[in-house]
Amino acid sequence: MTAKIIDGEAVATRIREQIAEATDTMEREHGFRPGLATVLVGENPASEQYVRMKRNRCKKVGIESFGHELPADATQEEVEGLVRQLGADPKVHGILVQLPLPGHLDEEAVLGAIPLHKDVDGFHPINIGRLAMKGRDPLFVPCTPAGAMILLEEAGATFDGAEAVVLGRSNIVGMPAAMLLIHRNATVTVCHSRTKDLPGVCRRADILIAAVGRAQMVKADWVKPGAFVIDVGSNKIDDPTSERGYRWVGDVDFDEVKEVAGAITPSPGGVGPMTIAGLLQNTLRAAQIAIERGEKPV
Ligand code: NDP
Repeated sequence: MTAKIIDGEAVATRIREQIAEATDTMEREHGFRPGLATVLVGENPASEQYVRMKRNRCKKVGIESFGHELPADATQEEVEGLVRQLGADPKVHGILVQLPLPGHLDEEAVLGAIPLHKDVDGFHPINIGRLAMKGRDPLFVPCTPAGAMILLEEAGATFDGAEAVVLGRSNIVGMPAAMLLIHRNATVTVCHSRTKDLPGVCRRADILIAAVGRAQMVKADWVKPGAFVIDVGSNKIDDPTSERGYRWVGDVDFDEVKEVAGAITPSPGGVGPMTIAGLLQNTLRAAQIAIERGEKPV
C-alpha cells in the first residue's frame, strides 16, 4: 500500500487565500487591517530568516507587519518594555517574540508580558495552561501543532478513541500537540529521549506525530499499517549530489514509511507551510477580537 500524501502547501495556500479575502473585508468594513509586530533579539541567522519569511507572508495576505530588533545584549527590562509598549499599541493586534531568546533572558517572563488577546503564537503561560485543562479553551493555540491537527483532519483521520503517539515533548510542538489530541478524545502517549522501545510504542499508533529533530529516525517497521503520520521534523543533512551540498529531511524516513502508512506528510512541504498560515490566521483572529472589544487603531 502507498500512503496518501498530505499536501501541506496546498492546504496552507487555501488558508492564505481565505485570510487575504478577510483582511480586505476588514479594511472595507472597519477601515483597518490586522497588524503583527515581530520582536527579534540578537543576530541568530535562522531566527532572522524565520522573521523575514513571516513578514513577507503577512504582506502577501494584507496583514501589516511591524518589525522590531533589539541587540543580543538587550536587558530583560528592555525586552519586556518593548513587549508592553506593543501590547498597548492599538495598531498591533498580534505580537510574536521570535524564540529562542538569548540565554540571559527569562523567556517565560517575556512571553508572559504579551497581553493574552495578542498572543498569536499561543505560548503565553495562561493560553498553554488553558490548553492543558479540561473544558477550557485558550484564545490561541501554538501554530505548528494546530497545523498538524488541520492536516490530520484534511486526511480524514478519526480522533475519537484513536491511539495517538507523539514523539517529542517540547513546549512548542510535542506537548501542545498531545494536548490538542486529548481535546479531540484520542488516547495519547508522549515519547521522549528516555522512552523505552520507541519502535514498539510507535507501532501502536493510529496517529503518529514526530517532532524530535532527528533526521529520518522513524522507520517503516515503527509504523502500524494504515496509520496517519505527521512529520514535524525539519533537519539539514549533507547531500553531495545536490548543488548546495545539503538538503532538508524530516524525522520520518519518508520513502520507507509511505509504503506502510495510510497517509503521510512530506517534509519539507507538510507541516512547515501550515505553521506560518496558522500565525496569519491567529493574527486575523486577534484583529477580530480587537473589533469585538471596540478597539480601533487611531
Ligand atoms: P526540541 O529539541 O525542543 O524537542 C525534541 C524532543 O524530542 C524532546 O522532547 C526530546 O526528548 C525528544 N528526542 C530527541 N531525541 C530523541 C530520541 N533519540 N529519541 C526519543 N526522543 C528524542 O525540538 P522541537 O520540538 O522544537 O522541534 C522538533 C522538530 O520539529 C525539529 O526538527 C524542528 O526543526 C521541527 N520544527 C518544525 C517546525 C515547523 O514549522 N515545521 C516548527 C518547530 C519545530 P527530551 O525531552 O527527553 O530531551
